Amino acid sequence: MFYQQEFDVIVVGGGHAGTEAALASARMGASTLLLTHNIETIGQMSCNPAIGGIGKGHLVKEIDALGGAMALATDRGGIQFRTLNSSKGPAVRATRAQADRTLYRQAIRTIVEQQENLTLFQQSCDDLIVENDQVCGVVTQMGLKFKAKSVVLTVGTFLGGTIHIGLENYRGGRAGDPPSIALAERLRALPFRVDRLKTGTPARLDARSLDFSVMQEQPGDDPVPVVSFMGNRDMHPRQIPCYITHTNERTHEIIRGGMDRSPMYTGIIEGVGPRYCPSIEDKITRFADKNSHQIFVEPEGLNSMEVYPNGISTSLPFDVQMALVRSIRGFENAHIVRPGYAIEYDFFDPRDLKQTLETKFINGLFFAGQINGTTGYEEAGAQGLVAGANAALQVQQKDPMILRRDQAYMGVLIDDLATMGTKEPYRMFTSRAEYRLLLREDNADMRLTALGRDIGLVDDARWAAFNQKVEAVEREQQRLRGQWVHPGHSAVDELNPMLKNPISREHTLEELVRRPEMTYKKLMNVSHLGPGLDDPIAAEQVEIQIKYAGYISRQLEEIAKAQRHENTLLPVDFDYSKISGLSNEVVAKLTEARPETIGKASRISGITPAAISLLLVFLKKQG
Ligand code: FAD
Repeated sequence: MFYQQEFDVIVVGGGHAGTEAALASARMGASTLLLTHNIETIGQMSCNPAIGGIGKGHLVKEIDALGGAMALATDRGGIQFRTLNSSKGPAVRATRAQADRTLYRQAIRTIVEQQENLTLFQQSCDDLIVENDQVCGVVTQMGLKFKAKSVVLTVGTFLGGTIHIGLENYRGGRAGDPPSIALAERLRALPFRVDRLKTGTPARLDARSLDFSVMQEQPGDDPVPVVSFMGNRDMHPRQIPCYITHTNERTHEIIRGGMDRSPMYTGIIEGVGPRYCPSIEDKITRFADKNSHQIFVEPEGLNSMEVYPNGISTSLPFDVQMALVRSIRGFENAHIVRPGYAIEYDFFDPRDLKQTLETKFINGLFFAGQINGTTGYEEAGAQGLVAGANAALQVQQKDPMILRRDQAYMGVLIDDLATMGTKEPYRMFTSRAEYRLLLREDNADMRLTALGRDIGLVDDARWAAFNQKVEAVEREQQRLRGQWVHPGHSAVDELNPMLKNPISREHTLEELVRRPEMTYKKLMNVSHLGPGLDDPIAAEQVEIQIKYAGYISRQLEEIAKAQRHENTLLPVDFDYSKISGLSNEVVAKLTEARPETIGKASRISGITPAAISLLLVFLKKQG
């Protein structure tokens, strides 16, 4: 039975990728269905209740700059905010927020429910309707059919999900949720390359059974950072601290004693786990010389007694979990509310995706989130937004939205996945971006909001606020360029003690801001030179653009140079073994990856600039 009219876009899965995908598609005017297992779990955080961090915070700001929900929900749900790397340069500064799990989920649900063009339906999607390699709709568990021109699959860790605790295991999508078995089988019958990955989570503890007095308190920052470009501090709920404690030799002994019943170390789990979010059993094996590991003790919410001990993710048997937890300072009498576990699931090789996140084999079918081998809410949300936008653009017969690596971390993420694939859960780091100085958190709106506006992702309110900020920054930059200070100026007596080299000739205010010992704020406090901009975000923008202008223009030159060859096409059936000078390893890598352009070839790990030069020479000779 077909239900309701045909939709333009169906998004399957209401997690972090699915909500951003459905919202993006609906914001662009496409009639959109969000089909998910359980409406109550829309926006649910499967693992730790925190958003942002290094690299990930950049993605959150980019999602926000394109009108997405994640940053606003974080401002509404965040109970401890910090700016990481605050003493370092602006490129690597990143915002992280501990979120109240319930408030975050409610904020996402409200945004989803208030979105025009977006319909919700609760059911499992068990099958896809595909005709002549074109997706035409989906079939739910009860046999209901929904038609659509595009389908975005964002089913997270649910495909063929198996939960492991010690040597016991059972099928599940995450604790408390059913797995997607029928859909996994259907997808395995399609020509995609599929493999298994694994991720894990720690036991949750009852705060009433912990002794916080022996732990180190970690308050949030003051002033409290705001995540969304449309956010403000009034949105934040009450702020509370996190705590820090550590594992010790006794903890490590207990873990070593339980390894013979570890599903990972006895070979029951075959999927590869996240290298950068390892389980505690991985940590004590990989870093055997360390006798202690840090644990962040994070509250799950303002009205929740649950605590998330970040750093001791484990799939050891429950009795070992109990003993290891209770060996930790402050956890001696801990009551475990939920056991830790690992989950193994199917993911699809993202090299079978185009840069739009549409699959290469089935037209109109898009994949986003953990299904593509990534880990993390932010990575999922970013892909969801790109896939949802492209699904809508395809239905509207418009050009796709493809973000370049020099434009956004989202571009880096998708290009990495589609070009190189991944053998382990992929997470974002600032080190993955070659143009870090351009891809800062603070300028995500400057990089992306106009682009989002052009394709219908950005609403009037955000557009107006953005323009106001841009105008304020430009006006202030002009003023700083046009206002001079000279030795006889009334500000000089106040100014000179702040400077390494006193004013001996005429200087613009812009030149003074550029001096290492000076900041925009300090300069604006000098009589007759300020007061400058009130808005601290616009003021920060003025300062960063002035101080880093030299580095930024050098990076722009590098980009222009790289772009000259970026889009040079490589034939898909190219015989790399014909090029003399290429090593066997390079030939094997290029043959496997089959990059479509020189740009993509250059980003495959192990493909050296020398190999790229040989390729270019060969292509030139071929004419
Ligand atoms: P999910 O958030 O998993 O959402 C999938 C959605 O799809 C769910 O709403 C589900 O109900 C729905 N769904 C699934 N199948 C169907 C179907 N057939 N029909 C209808 N709806 C369906 N990330 C980290 O960054 N660090 C960590 O340490 C970490 N640990 C994790 C530990 C565990 C145990 C789990 C489960 C996840 C962990 N994650 C971690 C990953 C993080 O939760 C995911 O990366 C993120 O949630 C992925 O978002 P997603 O939207 O792709 O999928």
